[in-house]
Amino acid sequence: MVRRDNSRNEKRNTGKNDSRNRNKNDYKKQNSLKERYKENPKDKPKGNPKGNIKDNSRGNSKEAKVETISYGVSADDWHMPVSVSVETEAQLRAVMDIKSVSRIYVDEACFGIPEIGSDIAGTVSKGSNEEREAEAFAEIFRSIRASGKECGLRLRRIERETDPYLNSRKLLENLVKLGAAPDAVLIRSFDEAMLLSGSEPSESGNKGLNTIKKIFDYTCYGYNTEAVSMLLDLGAEGLTYPIELTGRECMALRKALKENESDERLRTVPYEALVYGHLPMMVSANCIQRTSDRCDHRNRILRLRDRMQKDMPVRCYCKYCYNQIFNAEPLVLYDLEEDIRALDPESVRYDFSIESENEVRKILSGAVPGAMTRGHFRHGIE
Ligand SMILES: [Zn+2]
Repeated sequence: MVRRDNSRNEKRNTGKNDSRNRNKNDYKKQNSLKERYKENPKDKPKGNPKGNIKDNSRGNSKEAKVETISYGVSADDWHMPVSVSVETEAQLRAVMDIKSVSRIYVDEACFGIPEIGSDIAGTVSKGSNEEREAEAFAEIFRSIRASGKECGLRLRRIERETDPYLNSRKLLENLVKLGAAPDAVLIRSFDEAMLLSGSEPSESGNKGLNTIKKIFDYTCYGYNTEAVSMLLDLGAEGLTYPIELTGRECMALRKALKENESDERLRTVPYEALVYGHLPMMVSANCIQRTSDRCDHRNRILRLRDRMQKDMPVRCYCKYCYNQIFNAEPLVLYDLEEDIRALDPESVRYDFSIESENEVRKILSGAVPGAMTRGHFRHGIE
């Protein structure tokens, strides 16, 4: 259905020739897609197929002028559960409209009551903030459920002992009490896994916490059977393929797990494959704003320009005062349909961070951004 890239195109973004080769190929793709539209206009992606998605390489005018666009698999065309994670209201709006999106993770550091972080002086009582925070998430989860989707909470990337007011476990407990617990929680660090461990039902109020499915993100590494076994001991009920492994290595890992004779959990643990997202190059618990000026505890996006004149987005999650520096180009794997299906994932996931509402729609319609990267998927660890 979707043409695979030929090998020449794998090194895209590394030089001019690649973008020239790519254009030729894209043109073919676009033609075949146009023909498909004729047969079935419903297949047409909602976005504007002529527009160039997003070019993060602002300093590189040659790439910025690429007008053609190629298509990978749309969310509708996976025919398997599609998860997304969102960081903004606009992204949430966009994904709510898309029927084939089956689970939405909302980021803990980007939703809820924004002033919770700035109220360091504690002018509002701790108890009242906790309640308002849980109620804000409950409202989002109820509306996601009402749209027929599963809701998930993506935990913050760094969780300090001194974070204002709430730890993730407390938030989940409050959501359970409100009858609005998420279906799943996306765990991103071992700290959080430990925080949520031992959540058997008890009389003391955490009843229900263990009904929330624990999915571990790619930031909780499991490169081999032994490590995956440990992740399962920590409560993992679903895993994300490690982004540091090549596609082939991911396949080998899954094969080894499926053939494991001693542990049924290893044979059956479901995997999510990340097919889109700006990957973090660095996460820092040192707030950039606090060092450069003063932090007002608002979330924002800054840009760092590297020596190649590429703008790297810096996402400040200052509700909890940590930063992530993202790769300038997003990881795109949703146009490598055969490779992704070869991993036999139970679901695919799109991580949205800095995208606009319109960009989210385009990406889920299958449109491939002008500037992108394959991460390690095809190159391997060097
Ligand atoms: Zn900050």
